[in-house]
Formats: sequence, C-alpha cells, structure tokens
Amino acid sequence: MIKFPSDRRYNSLSVYLREKYMHRLQKISVNAGFTCPNRDGSVAVGGCTYCENKAFNPSYCDPGKSIKQQVEEGLLFLRKRYKNAGEFMVYFQPYSNTYDSVDKLETIYNEALAIPDVSGIVVSTRPDCVDEEKLQLLSDLSQSHYVFLEMGIESVFDKSLKRMNRGHDFKTSVQAFEMAAKYSLFTTGHYILGLPGESREEMLESAGILSEIPMKAIKLHQLQIVKGTEMHKDFENNPNDYKLFEREEYLDFAVSFCERLRPDLLIDRFAGEVPLPYLIAPKWGLFRYDQVMQMIEKRFEERNTWQGRLYEE
Ligand code: SF4
Repeated sequence: MIKFPSDRRYNSLSVYLREKYMHRLQKISVNAGFTCPNRDGSVAVGGCTYCENKAFNPSYCDPGKSIKQQVEEGLLFLRKRYKNAGEFMVYFQPYSNTYDSVDKLETIYNEALAIPDVSGIVVSTRPDCVDEEKLQLLSDLSQSHYVFLEMGIESVFDKSLKRMNRGHDFKTSVQAFEMAAKYSLFTTGHYILGLPGESREEMLESAGILSEIPMKAIKLHQLQIVKGTEMHKDFENNPNDYKLFEREEYLDFAVSFCERLRPDLLIDRFAGEVPLPYLIAPKWGLFRYDQVMQMIEKRFEERNTWQGRLYEE
C-alpha cells in the first residue's frame, strides 16, 4: 500500500499545503469583472450549458467594488468563520480570469497582491485563455508569492465537450497544461463526473487519461444541475440521458476513480457544492463538504484501497 501524508489513503492537497507551508492557505473569492470568450461571442455565445456563475458568488463578490474592498469584506467574514485561517489567497473565481491583455492582468493581480495579509493568488480560467505571455506573468509573480492556476478540463471526451458547448476540445486542455508545466506553475484541473452521454466505464477510463496530463492537482465535481441553465432545460427535456450520481453511489465511484489516478496527483476536492436554492438535482440533503470527505475516507478504509492502486503507467 502507498503511504500518503497524514495517514490518508489519497494524496490530499490540503495536507500537502499544510506540510509545505506549515499553515492553512484560505481562499477569498473576488469578482474582478472578467467575462468569458464562451459568452461574449469570441468562441461562442450562451456559455457552457451547466454554467451559472451566480451560484458560486459570495455576496461580497461584486465587480462594482474594488478588489481591495471585496477582499476586506471577505476577510471580515472568513476571520469570523475560521479562527486559524493562516494566510490568505485572493481567488479569481468567476468567469475566465486570464481573459484580458497581459498589461491589464498584471495590474489586476498586483492590486490583489498589494493588499496586506494577502500572500498569493488563485487564478481560475479556461485552457484556451492562456498563452506564453500570460504564463510568463504568472511565473514572474510566483517568484515572490503563492500562485495557483486552475483550468477547466471538464471531460476528456470531445463528444461531451461539444454537447456542453464548452467551445474547446480536450487537446486544447492538454496543450495548456503542457505549456504551464514549462513555467513550473502549480496547476489544478477541474473535472466533472456524471456528464450525459458518458458511461461509468468511460468515466473510470478518464482517470488514466487525466493522469497523463502534467498537472499538479485535480478538483472533482459530481454533475449538478443548476437552476436556469441550458443544462437544466436539457435535463427536463431528456431526463433519460442523465444518470446523476446519488450520494452513496458517488462515494464509491469517487474511490474507484481515485484508484485509477496516478498517486502523485494531489486531490483538491472530491465533490462540488451548489447552494441549495440553485440546485435542481441530485439532492443529497444537507451535507457539508467536510462530511462528504469523511464518508469518502471511510469508504477507502472499508474497501482497503488507496489512490493509484489500479493506476497503470
Ligand atoms: S468557460 Fe467558465 S465562465 Fe465561461 S461559460 Fe464556461 S463555465 Fe461559464
């Protein structure tokens, strides 16, 4: 059996960061007013069929406010919630946070990094919104601050990317992570499990394909149907196409998926949490993410298995 830090059965990103930096890194989300090429017509209009940025936007994230004001309001909120918050990272989360000129990006990121108590940035974007110049900028900033780059992969299957109107193919994701690896950036891939048209076998197969990508960490999300999205309409029109994970099945599936991942890939998250007012399906009840995590850890124990057990190089 592979031994992971803190006696876990998988390679936990939060444990890795705590051991590396000796404290917790807490994210503060901001909305810096970016848009997305999949919405403004550059790539497509309408966006990805599952997308509803409002569902993931804390109330203090308002692009009408300066980044400093959003961070200060976020700090007030997080300091009450987490007594030992450690250091703070500004999380550029909604929309595509590298979708502007390099000069503008530099100004925006530096505005965040100049705020007292902020030690770094997390930049979330699409794989078709990075290039050598932007990666060079992030690499330069990473010499003096923590810099994490998150990119949405969502599926390794072009048929699924097309169906969800993602506006790029899987090859684009691979190339973006390969380019980022040349700059030694810490990268995380975002991935959805349960997309319509993908069988459970195909999803398990994708773990091996994802393991080939030179990314440092992965964030897994079970497919959730969000109110008012194009996917919500499709779900109502074609319910039989959707095989959404119920909680118990997902706990087992997440473990099986993880068994097929390369063992040095850090796991950032195993599941997503759409706020209940926005969530159409699947409804797992009032479970917080830390409870889901504990249940997944228990499943690893019960099955006496671990990340990478079935990984084939
Ligand atoms: S790329 Fe991101 S912001 Fe743009 S439509 Fe898709 S999910 Fe929404």
